[in-house]
Amino acid sequence: MTTNDNAEFLAAVRRTTGGESRAELQDLIVRAEAAAPGAERDRAMDALYQAMAADPSSRQLLGQLLPETLLDPELGGFTNLPGAPAPLHYDRYLCRSCGYAWPVFDIADPVPPPTFCPEDGIGLVFRHAGE
Ligand SMILES: [Zn+2]
Repeated sequence: MTTNDNAEFLAAVRRTTGGESRAELQDLIVRAEAAAPGAERDRAMDALYQAMAADPSSRQLLGQLLPETLLDPELGGFTNLPGAPAPLHYDRYLCRSCGYAWPVFDIADPVPPPTFCPEDGIGLVFRHAGE
């Protein structure tokens, strides 16, 4: 995980979550930016990821920003932000009407997936990674 990639991710989160974001997220972004690279930075980033995953609006943003490499330790961690749309390499619940997607980051995720699309109320369908 490189310092530069963290900075890009944090800037994207800060930009996208803007005014409506919760104070907790902003606080975690500030802490991650201030953390020393290495274990301290990794812990701060993990806390931010967990906070984002726990909230439906920021969770979708997290799914858009995180490259697949972060989710697969075998691939060596966070290497780049996605510059172009690419298939998400993890399972997700998808709205076939508007494209809303709830990424499944971990089978032990304590946050239950929504049954219906929060945008238009249509039932979500499960899609395996790469589908
Ligand atoms: Zn929808």
